[in-house]
Amino acid sequence: MWAFRSVLLLRSAAGRAMSQGPARRQRPPKDPLRHLRTREKRGAAWEPGGPNTVYLQVVAAGGRDVGAALYVFSEYNRYLFNCGEGVQRLMQEHKLKVARLDNIFLTRMHWCNVGGLCGMILTLKETGLPKCVLSGPPQLEKYLEAIKTFSGPLKGIDLAVRPHSAPEYKDETMTVFQVPIYSVGQRKRGRDPSLVVAFVCKLHVKKGNFLVLKAKELGLPVGTAAIAPIIAAVKDGRSVTYEGREILPEEICTPPDPGLAFVVVECPDEGFIRPVCENATFKRYQGNAEAPVALVVHMAPERVLADSRYQQWMERFGPAAQHLVLNESCSSVHNLRSHKIQTQLSLIHPDIFPPLATPCRQEEVPASRVPTVRGECLLKYQLRPRREWQRDAVINCNPEEFVAEALELPNFQESVQEYRKAVQDGPTPTENGSPYPEIVFLGTGSAIPMKIRNVSATLVNISPDRSLLLDCGEGTFGQLCRHYGDEVDRVLGTLAAVFVSHLHADHHTGLLNILLQRERALASLGKPCHPLPVVAPTQLRAWLQQYHHQCQRILHHVSLIPAKCLQKGAEVPSPEVERLIGSLLQACDLGEFQTCLVRHCKHAFGCALVHTSGWKLVYSGDTMPCEALVQMGKDATLLIHEATLEDGLEEEAVEKTHSTTSQAIGVGVRMNAGFTMLTHFSQRYAKVPLFSPGFNEKVGIAFDHMKVCFGDSATVSKLIAPLQALFAGDIEEMEGRREKRGVRLARAALLSGEQAGGPEDGAPQQKRALPEQPQSPQSKKVRAQ
Ligand SMILES: [Zn+2]
Ligand SMILES: [Zn+2]
Repeated sequence: MWAFRSVLLLRSAAGRAMSQGPARRQRPPKDPLRHLRTREKRGAAWEPGGPNTVYLQVVAAGGRDVGAALYVFSEYNRYLFNCGEGVQRLMQEHKLKVARLDNIFLTRMHWCNVGGLCGMILTLKETGLPKCVLSGPPQLEKYLEAIKTFSGPLKGIDLAVRPHSAPEYKDETMTVFQVPIYSVGQRKRGRDPSLVVAFVCKLHVKKGNFLVLKAKELGLPVGTAAIAPIIAAVKDGRSVTYEGREILPEEICTPPDPGLAFVVVECPDEGFIRPVCENATFKRYQGNAEAPVALVVHMAPERVLADSRYQQWMERFGPAAQHLVLNESCSSVHNLRSHKIQTQLSLIHPDIFPPLATPCRQEEVPASRVPTVRGECLLKYQLRPRREWQRDAVINCNPEEFVAEALELPNFQESVQEYRKAVQDGPTPTENGSPYPEIVFLGTGSAIPMKIRNVSATLVNISPDRSLLLDCGEGTFGQLCRHYGDEVDRVLGTLAAVFVSHLHADHHTGLLNILLQRERALASLGKPCHPLPVVAPTQLRAWLQQYHHQCQRILHHVSLIPAKCLQKGAEVPSPEVERLIGSLLQACDLGEFQTCLVRHCKHAFGCALVHTSGWKLVYSGDTMPCEALVQMGKDATLLIHEATLEDGLEEEAVEKTHSTTSQAIGVGVRMNAGFTMLTHFSQRYAKVPLFSPGFNEKVGIAFDHMKVCFGDSATVSKLIAPLQALFAGDIEEMEGRREKRGVRLARAALLSGEQAGGPEDGAPQQKRALPEQPQSPQSKKVRAQ
């Protein structure tokens, strides 16, 4: 490995010499909140007179893996309509700036619309955004309270909730009216699932432009102070009298742009059709000349759209109105980068990196009297300056392109050929026994879901019909969908339990969606839905209870097994828990399911599963090197260990209570693990972590959607060479950063009169204040991960 690294370094040095300078120049940090300061300077009395540019853009087209979400842009404001799981990840991938959001509108208190909000709020808080307003159903306030059960107090960000009963909201771009719609005959006390909130958004009239030349021709006092009141008057549509002559606004001013409106409405089932169709607010906008509705966005299933009452209601908006549909029949690739990397990785080994499922249309589109446009990721409808659909940003997923790009990389084809040869010469997985357990990594990044790596989740298929999920960060279900395609219901049907290691958002906020989608899956499979055993810190209960009582019924889907009850020698508090543990072991053919406290946050656990056939799988959760884990995991067949940071960052690893690569490998060695898979990489290593000298034939690195079994160990450890060829550019950049840091460390050590201990000598750094610069935006703020 060392030799390979040196070659890479040489190559990178040569590359730089040719390009005369570093690969990428350091840019001064951008100010993400500049827009707020500009707004402050303008003051409250500032009246822009309507926005010049406004468009709506589909973030998520409504598919089962991504939900429906819409982004609205004007030069003054940015809005988001709905924020399900994975929306933040898509916004990151497609460069829709989260820090510019000042309003989030939610159409219904259902996990599909609010599942991504906890992660989004944590990110907004880190960005330093002082205020964000959430509009929509009344339970939003309680939802925020529920989030605090695991996030702690959300200090530093003012999260205002504007309930649907509040008067209309007005800013520089538009006025927004919330329209509450109650389902027929379903009104329930408290959390009220029967309420959806629709939004009628009315753009401000754009005043006309003053025509200077025409004004000069008419002899008006252009260029003097006297022109100002004249301009103001004609822009407001009033005529003026100048030197005894009446001047009409249309003589010196272009006509104003009317106050167009758009509507966002969710109609989740037939129960809402009549209330939507009879709603008085909508009626006022159907055939309204003053604020014609340019676009109606329908978040509704096909059976609602096909209903003749709903179709008549659509028609009443008139022939000029456009209709955009976001629902599960929309087929569109959203996570393009994830598809790209998986396509390229599958060139190395198509079984370990199986190609992702591409979404296909679920249902036939019903014949509609009203022309509708189906949502696609990044499709735009522009309202100003000109009303039109814009398809230039729509995602086009072209696997051939990804393949061609990889094949052009220097050394890539050769290293893949060498790899295949080496693997062929080695033992094949079948010779090594059963293809089970099969481990599918669904999320291998830490903290924030990013385009290449989603947050923590690992599926363990114990047998063809039994599986376990180790952690369950935001978007885990979406990852399952993209991995398994149409098979996802079957896989959810095999799920026997979920292990939640600790209550950081990157490990558990995907749980509710798994519970809800599992219910749906079992129904479609015609199987009964029993509560799913969830092994987790008891503190999870508070979050589930709050969400259940205030937002949406969920508790009947879960049987909580406190993780502490599975510690060695722990007492089981009740016969009920004992029964749950017993049936879980039996269902999974496990002889043992043990947990231990690890060195991370409070109540953080690792776990060890021992199968009746003899294999032992150990999962660290998040932790610094931990002796209790080493003891519990003795002689593990496979250790899955976090390796958040690269070697040399031991100090940061202590600060954030995580492990470095070599520390994680060391734990595997001390445990005498047969193989160690590294995961939970800091998102600063977007594609691939930095390889350390400790990499050997017993170590592998995990990627999202990677699928391995115990027999794959030789195949997996040999992957490093072709991976280095595939990601040479990224590695070069990271090595450059590491070199710079090494120089800084050495300089700091000299200044403090100490011996310069290079970051790569493997010795842990002493804790001391170093003038080290943050490596990436993620490391600026410490987010519990
Ligand atoms: Zn954590
Ligand atoms: Zn984490």
